[in-house]
Amino acid sequence: MGGVHPADNKISRDCKIEVLPIPETVYIHLGQHIGAPAKPVVAVGDKVKAGQLIAEPGGFVSAAIHSSVSGTVKSIAPRKDLAGNPQMCVEIAVEGDEWLEGIDTTDTVIREFPDDPAVCLDKIKAAGVVGLGGATFPTAVKLTPPPGKKCEMLIINGCECEPYLTSDFRTLLEKGEQVVIGAAIIKSILKVDKATIAIEDNKPEAIDHIQKVLAELRKVSPKYDGISVMSLMKKYPEGGEKQLIDAVMHRQVASGGLPIDVGAVVQNVATALAVYDAVQKNKPIVDNSVTVTGECFPRQANLLVRVGTPLKFIIDYLGGVPQDTAKIISGGPMMGRAIANLEAATLKGTSALLFLTKAQTARGKESNCIRCGKCAEACPMGLEPFLLNRLSRAGGMLDQLEANAVQDCIECGCCLYSCPANIPLLDVIRQSKGQVLGIIKARAAAKK
Ligand code: SF4
Ligand code: SF4
Repeated sequence: MGGVHPADNKISRDCKIEVLPIPETVYIHLGQHIGAPAKPVVAVGDKVKAGQLIAEPGGFVSAAIHSSVSGTVKSIAPRKDLAGNPQMCVEIAVEGDEWLEGIDTTDTVIREFPDDPAVCLDKIKAAGVVGLGGATFPTAVKLTPPPGKKCEMLIINGCECEPYLTSDFRTLLEKGEQVVIGAAIIKSILKVDKATIAIEDNKPEAIDHIQKVLAELRKVSPKYDGISVMSLMKKYPEGGEKQLIDAVMHRQVASGGLPIDVGAVVQNVATALAVYDAVQKNKPIVDNSVTVTGECFPRQANLLVRVGTPLKFIIDYLGGVPQDTAKIISGGPMMGRAIANLEAATLKGTSALLFLTKAQTARGKESNCIRCGKCAEACPMGLEPFLLNRLSRAGGMLDQLEANAVQDCIECGCCLYSCPANIPLLDVIRQSKGQVLGIIKARAAAKK
């Protein structure tokens, strides 16, 4: 249902993942996942090593956070994030690059993994693994389905359907074996027979490579049986969780429902790699691949970046902000967020820095809705964006907005992209969605 076909613009697809030098200081956010912020377990003046726990989960839905560098804790204080909002951060002055004992930093690939799913799950939790496809939901929680729910299919999301982004594509090509081993570990935890690695058909090299990797791994262990590769038609947002389940399993997740309700668990390629690192290498999430791109940007790149690296450090490394840059986006052009503060640091879930010019970001003059229905046709959630826009702008219509499922909006931007009247549909709908979700949460809390 719905979807659009924006230009791919994957101009960094041939850029191999390059290790970014370590900055002088990192700033590690304590709230870089969905759920309660982590609680610091270090104090100012403490010496830490790379991979050392610096903050423990702050609740059931939360994640551990580790130092991405070795050095001295300089402060634990609020610091402005990408949007300019203050967030608690651990500031660490870098000294050398010493790793915590027990973490395997070699490139040796380990194909056999523990038979006991509980051991694997504990390692994933201890490593602070979160969903790296955008949601940053703690992975150990997602891999523990509630009583009565059973996973029938694990889907590894390798679609990377947002224009410009190429870090997952490069990960599939360069760390494909580790991704498949990570997928097999997740499959064993979920005790599910089937897993599929879903890749859009605009990445034939990745499809081919993963098929070869799978054929080799099946010779090593029966644990790799039941994993397949699925080529999906290129369409945005094919990598949206509900859209992917529909494409792979032909099942629809109901409004307010979860993938597990229809027997699915979806994990992103980078998350599968993080699971491999956690279980096979005892390595927590301390770095991640970030695409740096844009037609106006002088040097396209896919960089392996330590978590907490200031954005300015990354940009300066690649030559600085081009003069004709009008906007820098964290993420892709459809779902990413504009960056208001270059002093902000990367998070576990930072996937891209995209540079756009004035011409690329200019919005056309808004005119009246001509009732063409293009926004409804494009909406992958089956919503009526023109109606949600009208109700939102009328004010005080939160009941009707909820009845028309504004809370199901996945903020994909397909409506905005399709509207010939240049109505800022996403901006308006996003605001109403926030208000309606607030009401739904308050109602649920009052029932407890
Ligand atoms: S942003 Fe929301 S309303 Fe617009 S197309 Fe996407 S899901 Fe539908
Ligand atoms: S696409 Fe724009 S003009 Fe067309 S119905 Fe939707 S809001 Fe109206």
